[in-house]
Amino acid sequence: MLSSASPSPSSNTSNIQINNTTLSQLFINQRLIESFLRKSILLKIIEAAASQYTKNYQQTKRPEDTLAAVIVQLPFAYKDFLDSPKELLNLTIDEPIQFMNAVKYCVYSLIRDFVKQTSSETGLKSIDIEQVHVQLRFIGLPYQQHLCFDPSKNLYPTNLCSVLGILTALTEPEKCVIQTVWFCSTGCLRNKIKKNSTEAPQCNSCSRSMSEYSKLRSIQNYHLLRLVPTGFVQTPIILDKVFRAVLVRVKEHNYNCKLKLGGRYLVTGYYDYNKCGQEFQAWNLINI
Ligand SMILES: [Zn+2]
Repeated sequence: MLSSASPSPSSNTSNIQINNTTLSQLFINQRLIESFLRKSILLKIIEAAASQYTKNYQQTKRPEDTLAAVIVQLPFAYKDFLDSPKELLNLTIDEPIQFMNAVKYCVYSLIRDFVKQTSSETGLKSIDIEQVHVQLRFIGLPYQQHLCFDPSKNLYPTNLCSVLGILTALTEPEKCVIQTVWFCSTGCLRNKIKKNSTEAPQCNSCSRSMSEYSKLRSIQNYHLLRLVPTGFVQTPIILDKVFRAVLVRVKEHNYNCKLKLGGRYLVTGYYDYNKCGQEFQAWNLINI
């Protein structure tokens, strides 16, 4: 990008310092998460997902199966964090999106190592980070005042928090796309992996529309819920307060209970500012 004024050497240095600090913090976060995963049963889940991916390719030997999605369901439990450095729990609660991204990178590097180690038997050499999809669940966040989300206060949290509410509306199960895999049928042998989309991409080489390996499409069910916090029901008339229901997106790996209108549910998650309509993204949902 062209700039009318050159940045001064001091601002350059401070930018580098900020970037270095951010990078070293990312590195520290990943080391903490990797050590947590290695010590827990979650490592076995990751290895099982990697093994299923490599075995599938060994059986079929279809080149397109090297691009298949590797879906890893990871249930994190709050109590397991208590034996780990405090920084890890602080990161998870204060910066849930950063935590999720760091988990994804760690899971990818563990799967990549597994693929490399088993390469001589399987014939698979590498895997792309785009193929790795972590489905995270977070169980047992304590129901404490500072970790509760009360929308009537109009203070929208950025941290991991819980909301206890009554289910007043829900959608039918809806499908979201996890991953699609595409090929160019004009002979350029190009492939592309797309996340969250079924729209045909253009080939980078010949600019034609690509075709989908439909058998490799991975999807998942989710519901949108309207949850009225229970505090509103107990004290519905207070002047100068707006009582608002919370719109919750809950994916099928985030709960085991039945969803019934009028039921009381405790949802743990984070408020997603990136989505229009401002959804609360569930990491766990239980009926209480
Ligand atoms: Zn092409």
